[in-house]
Amino acid sequence: MINKSIRRLLLIEDNPGDARLMREMFNEEGAHSIEHVHVECMRDAEAHLAQHGADIILLDLGLPDAQGLEAVRRAHAAANHVPLVVLSGMDDESMAIQAMQEGAQDYLIKGQIESRELLRALRYAKERKLIEETLFAEKERAQATLDCIGDAVVTTDITGHITFLNPVAEEMTGWPEQEAKGRPVTDIFHVLNATTREMIPNLMEQAIEQNLAGQLPFNSVLIRRDGIEIFIEDSVAPIRDRAGRTIGAVKVFRDVSASRAMAQEIAHTAEHDFLTGLPNRLLLNDRIGQAIAFALRHEKQIAILFLDLDGFKYINDSLGHPVGDKILQSIGKRLQKCVRISDTVSRQGGDEFVILISEVDCAEDAVLSARRILEVLAEAHCIDGEYLHVTTSIGVSVYPDDGVDAETLIKNADTAMYQAKDSGRQNYKFFKPDMNVRAVERQSIEEGLRGALQRHEFMLHYQPKIDLTTGAITGAEALIRWTHPKRGSIPPDLFIPIAEESGLILPIGRWVLREACTQVCAWAKAGLPMVHMAVNISAIEFRDANFLENVFAILQETGMDPNFLELEMTESVLMKGAEATEKTLKVLREHGVRLAIDDFGTGYSSLSYLRKFSIDSLKIDRSFIRQITTNPEETTIVSAMISMGQSLKLRVVAEGVETHEELAFLRGHHCDEAQGYHFSRPVRPQQFAKLLEGSVEVPMQA
Ligand code: C2E
Ligand code: CA
Ligand code: CA
Repeated sequence: MINKSIRRLLLIEDNPGDARLMREMFNEEGAHSIEHVHVECMRDAEAHLAQHGADIILLDLGLPDAQGLEAVRRAHAAANHVPLVVLSGMDDESMAIQAMQEGAQDYLIKGQIESRELLRALRYAKERKLIEETLFAEKERAQATLDCIGDAVVTTDITGHITFLNPVAEEMTGWPEQEAKGRPVTDIFHVLNATTREMIPNLMEQAIEQNLAGQLPFNSVLIRRDGIEIFIEDSVAPIRDRAGRTIGAVKVFRDVSASRAMAQEIAHTAEHDFLTGLPNRLLLNDRIGQAIAFALRHEKQIAILFLDLDGFKYINDSLGHPVGDKILQSIGKRLQKCVRISDTVSRQGGDEFVILISEVDCAEDAVLSARRILEVLAEAHCIDGEYLHVTTSIGVSVYPDDGVDAETLIKNADTAMYQAKDSGRQNYKFFKPDMNVRAVERQSIEEGLRGALQRHEFMLHYQPKIDLTTGAITGAEALIRWTHPKRGSIPPDLFIPIAEESGLILPIGRWVLREACTQVCAWAKAGLPMVHMAVNISAIEFRDANFLENVFAILQETGMDPNFLELEMTESVLMKGAEATEKTLKVLREHGVRLAIDDFGTGYSSLSYLRKFSIDSLKIDRSFIRQITTNPEETTIVSAMISMGQSLKLRVVAEGVETHEELAFLRGHHCDEAQGYHFSRPVRPQQFAKLLEGSVEVPMQA
């Protein structure tokens, strides 16, 4: 064995006696095959090693030209890879030990060596050198790998403190290895779930504790030291010693932001139109499906608008496709501005666009969108410095009336679009003919409303409110009446929503308030008792920036005492933008104006919510009053509303009281006030004056 591994031995020894002794020892053991070379100084040794090398070196530390550690270093330098065994005298054993730290594999003390021992020492020295070299190479290889692989690597010891970070890990965590070493891994490694923003517990600790490999969940982001977030994937494994005991953990992770982005990009491409970037048919169908599910749950409707450009083929043919493409892009952008974020504008291909209007309250709402689109698209498109005009025809279908799935709705909107083209383009048509009639009517009402104030077509009727204990008239509610020059009287339920959508409610509302205030003052001047005047305020008015200013200006202008004005608004007015609402109500209240919640019970307000607002009374919606006689089991709702209102120290008013029974019930449950046909319909001012005079009796007997 030794003969095989050690063939050429270099003995560096200046003492001839010692050298001879050595040779004899080899001979004794029969190690004849070892070729000895004997030199007497370091210089000769260096020359020999440079030329011939050796399998092992036996070095005396007291040479004429090199002593002690210097001798070791020079021998080492001359033959880095050759195992070195040092020979020392008894008196410098400590020197020999130092020599081992310098790279010698072993030392032998002269005069204490036996020949068998000598050979074993040489063999072991050779083996140790071999292992050392292999380990070194292994470590070098690992280090080189860790330094140049694209993955980040972190290791910790058993207590979870960092022991190593490769350059990629330094880069990704933002921590240099020198700074990170010795810190708890949780100091440098913060990982969140990208969506929930919840911290993800450290897997390395888990790997150590449970001696198990693991992986981060999908969608994990690493928060770098400077706060930048990086999507990562990782795997963690415990590091074990030979006995299988865990001594630490290793985590390998990589930046997957790019591949994540690529996946998103691919998904985006599959669902979007390349030319305009709008959702394509696939995504639209999906969105329609979702909108239908939502509408079904919330009893809403949705509308589909099918758009086809008029004469687009002509543009393509005469100006070329590049220009056509630019027009389509310009149209796509404009369409997106015409709708809410929750709506979807899609391009089907060619010059066809389909728009999903989600959540409409009534089909006529789609009319507003269609008209706005026609208007916006009719404006010239500036393409390459030229102004080009394109018009559009729109077909409208409505869920659930015209279909309950995406395919049918789109098909029917398409059919309606052809009718729009037939009837002269730059136009919209509903799929159902009666919808077109209604749309036309709506438009005619809006047009009629525009000049109605100037033409003095409005007037107010007044309906008394009755105190249910005394039977006295406590107030009047002003209700608007409109006489259309051609169509005659149009009920407010029909025109108020249109006035709201077109913004016309603002001047109309101001007129109502001024007229009502003027009227109470006129009655008081005529010697009639002063009553509270209730005026209905719509959400649009309430949210108008000048609302408060207008109210106070009108009070001043008419000389009305604010303490006699009451404003009625529905719960929905209060529910939106609660903070601003609270402020406005407070200001009104501070000026003495009373506030009532109209149509109470039809909205979504909760008791705790109402408590926040400065309110004086609740008007129970007439649909509940109707139930008193038609649905006696439901009367508990009405009695609950009465006692609830009173527990909040609010006056409770019953609306729409029509019968003796209803009145009897309300009095029995101590409702404060009531209003309804049973006492009086809304009447003209002169008639109301008669009620106030007492010349017409208000029926109180139940
Ligand atoms: P509202 O505020 O709930 O007004 C009460 C409605 O119930 C009035 O309808 C009134 O005529 C009717 N009514 C009163 N007693 C009875 C009854 O015993 N039985 C039945 N079935 N109905 C009764 P009107 O005048 O048609 O007004 C309808 C709605 O139009 C009002 O409902 C209000 O929301 C709105 N409105 C009316 N005038 C104005 C106004 O000047 N400004 C605003 N913003 N909205 C107004
Ligand atoms: Ca009212
Ligand atoms: Ca009401």
